[in-house]
Amino acid sequence: MDFFPVTLLRIESVADRTLTFYFSKPEGFTFHAGQYAILRIPAERLIQSDIRSGMRPLSIASAPSETELAFVMREGVTGFKKTMWDLTVGDVISVGGPVGHATIHDGDVRPIAILSGGVGMAPARSMLIEAVAKNDTRKYVLFSSNRFLADVPFQNELTAIRLPDFTYAFTLSAESEPATLPGEERGRITAEMIKKYLPEWPESLYYVIGAPAFADAMKVILSDIGIAEENIHIDPFSGLTGPGANTVNA
Ligand SMILES: Cc1cc2nc3c(=O)[nH]c(=O)nc-3n(C[C@H](O)[C@H](O)[C@H](O)COP(=O)(O)OP(=O)(O)OC[C@H]3O[C@@H](n4cnc5c(N)ncnc54)[C@H](O)[C@@H]3O)c2cc1C
Repeated sequence: MDFFPVTLLRIESVADRTLTFYFSKPEGFTFHAGQYAILRIPAERLIQSDIRSGMRPLSIASAPSETELAFVMREGVTGFKKTMWDLTVGDVISVGGPVGHATIHDGDVRPIAILSGGVGMAPARSMLIEAVAKNDTRKYVLFSSNRFLADVPFQNELTAIRLPDFTYAFTLSAESEPATLPGEERGRITAEMIKKYLPEWPESLYYVIGAPAFADAMKVILSDIGIAEENIHIDPFSGLTGPGANTVNA
């Protein structure tokens, strides 16, 4: 795999304990929405030793049509995360890739359901911003699952997405107050929720994005309602073994 140097341009807080890192996009680095990359922090820049030598696979949160490369991460305790939180504008790390097959294909007109848990919003954002850039007229439904509203990355941006046929359904699995906003739900993503927001559920394409436990739970639901495996695209966030990894709601 080729690695490219990338310069940190800015950092934004996009949810509780969650940052987006924007890097320069290297010349010749092309990718499809939904793909991921390998971030590599140079050994001499690590502020503490890291179990995976300063490398992590991370979904690309920016769209191919955008000028920067963006990555979203929850705070963590590893040398990789501690160093990412220590980076300042102008720092240079490397990006390898792109990798992954969970991408949306031009020319297929079937409705698209994106099922996203936690920081799975990263590739979801890339897919939707790219759909806007391409004037995509297909139906898109984004289902997101997070514990609380404060945990939802890109909430304002995704609520404001303008596509000819787009629905945003978000469930807050740990919230005890009643739902009040359009598309707001409680509990886990269920088959009933999918059918409620996506009447064309039998003939839709599904993109499942999140930690392995979330991906497994979604696979069971989709298989139970009879969705064929070839219509389900998954690149599970294997390696995500922190507190959010074992919950199906991220
Ligand atoms: C295709 C793909 C896409 C991905 N996309 C994203 C993404 O967009 N955003 C994202 O955040 N993640 C993504 N991930 C997961 C990402 O690669 C990391 O696994 C994840 O961010 C957690 O990284 P981490 O360094 O906090 O912990 P990991 O490297 O996963 O380490 C696992 C756990 O080990 C323990 N641990 C390790 N070192 C220490 C230490 N020094 N002290 C105490 N405990 C320790 C911690 O509990 C830690 O959570 C993706 C993974 C894949 C495969």
